[in-house]
Amino acid sequence: MSVFDNSEYDNHEQVLFCRDAASGLFAIIAIHDTTLGPAAGGCRMWPYATTSDAVYDVLRLSRAMSYKNALAGLPLGGGKAVIIGDPLKEKNAKLLTSFARYVQKLGGQYYAAEDIGIGVEDVEVFAMASNYVFGLTETGDPSPFTALGCFHGIRASVKHKLNRDTLKGLTVAVQGVGKVGLHLCENLHEAGAGLIVADVNSKAVAHVVENYGAKSVAPGEIYSQEADIFSPCAMGGVLNDITIPQLKACIVAGSANNQLAEARHDKMLHDRGILYTPDYVINAGGMLNASGDIFGEYDVNEVMKKISGLYDVTLRIFKTAHQEGRLTSEVADELARQRIAEGKVSKK
Ligand code: NAD
Repeated sequence: MSVFDNSEYDNHEQVLFCRDAASGLFAIIAIHDTTLGPAAGGCRMWPYATTSDAVYDVLRLSRAMSYKNALAGLPLGGGKAVIIGDPLKEKNAKLLTSFARYVQKLGGQYYAAEDIGIGVEDVEVFAMASNYVFGLTETGDPSPFTALGCFHGIRASVKHKLNRDTLKGLTVAVQGVGKVGLHLCENLHEAGAGLIVADVNSKAVAHVVENYGAKSVAPGEIYSQEADIFSPCAMGGVLNDITIPQLKACIVAGSANNQLAEARHDKMLHDRGILYTPDYVINAGGMLNASGDIFGEYDVNEVMKKISGLYDVTLRIFKTAHQEGRLTSEVADELARQRIAEGKVSKK
């Protein structure tokens, strides 16, 4: 199947297939849209079962980056890259350098950063072969900033759905207490929320139980917990035909990218009276922070202000969806596309 026929192809400007036999590199760089600025987004390393799976993922993720950057008010377009391979077995400096050379050849059309399977230390290797990387040591680990954005997104969803200004006394079921989930638990605990957590990593769970008084459950049981909010902070595709009927929470809001297995699953949530908080809207905090590297200026206070602003953006999406009887994911996508279109007009 050609890229153009892929269900996730959305008039992407460029899709670059990168192969370097000497280093063993198989990678794909997808540039979705550069109307608002250079495409920026992480590079993921994952052992995709097939090349089609990798194409599907990179197309979907790069479009989400265009929407995320547009709604976060950043002068950046959307792009993403995937390196096909097992990061635990196949990642090495030669492979990373080879990937970075492809990024360099794009001459600033795409800026790469960390993502699943690629850490800050790997981005430092990229930086030796390319000027077009971000999320390095100056701006630091993006996870606390992503978590803070999610926290504001949860506050907005609670305001809209429950008409409450505080999280005190509410219960949040957090799926995945890795880098983002852990910081989110800290924020939620400080705000007086109760926590139920699940992770396949028992050490990570033990830390949250000990420090934030969380109750832990087995990974498969997190969906059916008696909680007000379900917060997916592990992997994508977790809102699907099997999990949605199990949910008892009336709000879904978390950091994981591409939470809806398919677009129709927002309707399924809506029909069950569950408010879906579009993932890319509230997980933009890390991007707001790390993008300082691209612009060559970094002011943490400004970043914090912009992250707090995600509360208003989220609330606006909920209000429009409610007034127009539409799904929150549809309204968010439309608003993002509108901002990109306005950028096109102002460039003329
Ligand atoms: P991470 O790898 O540090 O944490 C993910 C956690 O999920 C791990 O602890 C892992 O053990 C756990 N997990 C995996 N499978 C699970 C399962 N079946 N059930 C329960 N737990 C499971 O990743 P992260 O950086 O915390 O990111 C979390 C999510 O947020 C990812 O989807 C990521 O793409 C997204 N995201 C992260 C950032 C960021 O700044 N790190 C920014 C935007 C979006």
